[in-house]
Amino acid sequence: MRTVPVHVIEHPVVHDALVTLRGADTPSEVFRRAAKRISLVLVAEALRDIPTENLKVHTPLYPPAADGRRIACGVVVVPVLRAGLGMLDAVLELVPAARVGYIGLQRDESTAVASQYYSKLPARLDSNCILVIDPMLATGGSAVAALDLLARAGARAIRVVCIVAAPEGIAAVEQHHPDVAIYTPVIDQGLNAQKFILPGLGDFGDRLYGTT
Ligand code: URA
Repeated sequence: MRTVPVHVIEHPVVHDALVTLRGADTPSEVFRRAAKRISLVLVAEALRDIPTENLKVHTPLYPPAADGRRIACGVVVVPVLRAGLGMLDAVLELVPAARVGYIGLQRDESTAVASQYYSKLPARLDSNCILVIDPMLATGGSAVAALDLLARAGARAIRVVCIVAAPEGIAAVEQHHPDVAIYTPVIDQGLNAQKFILPGLGDFGDRLYGTT
């Protein structure tokens, strides 16, 4: 039985952008724009139920005031370097006041094991909504390492937003962090021998930065 809440985002804009990201011939500049486009919708969905407070806002036609709602919790976004940076602009566009933490994880190409080389996290994580952005949830090694670090730093309400998930990655998060929600447009078939997602989209960081 699945304990991790996995939210599969079915929005047509998401799936349109995903086709662009998957396409082997998509150049980096188009890939980058599609990564931002898909992230805008995924992140909006991931934040759908965060707390808000009611207020009144005076329009230019004052009076009367209009009723409004503002985000009423701190949002901390944590891109897993380097691929997660491709989703960061979208979060900051949606939540300009979000604070940003960074976690640098290097994947060993032969073992696919993630090791941490950098981290810088904001203070007071426990009272904030935390978004981990890691586009490819493959073995789950980097996501679990990032979640371990965040949990040790006091983070409580954590959501992982990815662009392609493999069943293995979801299972790893489920095993180690059963209280963490995952947002993804798709759950692909699985991993190949090199631990890349199939059909996937290749190496996200390389495609984003043109380092193939
Ligand atoms: N990281 C990637 O960029 N792609 C994969 O398929 C798996 C991990």
